[in-house]
Amino acid sequence: MPYVFSRLVRPDARKAQGRPLVEFNGVTRAYGSRLALDEVDFRLEPGELAFLVGPSGAGKTTLLKLINRELRPTQGEVWIDGIAAHELKASRVAELRRRVGVVFQDYKLLPRLTARENVALALQVGDLRVSDREARERALDALDAVGLGDRGDSMPHELSGGQQQRVAVARAVIRKPPLLIADEPTGNLDMETAWGITDLLEDIAAFGITVLVATHNIEIVTRLQRRVLTLVNGRLVRDQPAGQTGRMAWLASS
Ligand code: ADP
Repeated sequence: MPYVFSRLVRPDARKAQGRPLVEFNGVTRAYGSRLALDEVDFRLEPGELAFLVGPSGAGKTTLLKLINRELRPTQGEVWIDGIAAHELKASRVAELRRRVGVVFQDYKLLPRLTARENVALALQVGDLRVSDREARERALDALDAVGLGDRGDSMPHELSGGQQQRVAVARAVIRKPPLLIADEPTGNLDMETAWGITDLLEDIAAFGITVLVATHNIEIVTRLQRRVLTLVNGRLVRDQPAGQTGRMAWLASS
């Protein structure tokens, strides 16, 4: 499996060492008078896998939406792979989105397309120069990488939740983004299936893609011993380095 991921990684993902892939400087985001994020500062380095935890309503989804410019901050700066997302014009959002793969809790596959077509479409939407044949081949490579090389012709409804999430991961990395963000990617899955998806995310990070995962899955966060960012009421109350996480990290969350 890993040999295929090596082809999925953007060649300059590692070259960018020295510059953070994600940088939040004093980021505040308000919805009306409610502060969803309050003066948040952090950086993610190339190839880093970090978890974002905290109770419901803490601001996790808002933080992820600021990364791919679904939202803009009320105050502060959001830098993504050298792009100033906080002041990015709508006409340049596509440039940013090419750099950010996204995985959702509920997969969001297009129901009338096969697994292969779902992945290939993500490639062609971003780059009209990619021929149908190339898109098909690269989509099959990506499906192979996530362990679904033989399910390219399956429709989403013919796949289990875990398999659909694997297709969604393949779709998210097909354009070799330097960054992958995932919002509760294991939220609808049983524990064993959740571990399979987590293994995939670790493999992806191992090949140089920065991965940020918002999750409530205590077992995965405590066992993996990766960096953990904890949000409570919109404030980043803890930033625990890899190797220093444990059950106590969860005292701050529900
Ligand atoms: P989480 O993902 O950690 O559950 P969210 O980022 O979804 O947190 O929400 C953070 C806070 O912002 C919550 O208080 C939520 O109610 C509020 N919020 C989120 N989206 C909106 C919105 N579109 N309009 C108003 N308030 C919102």
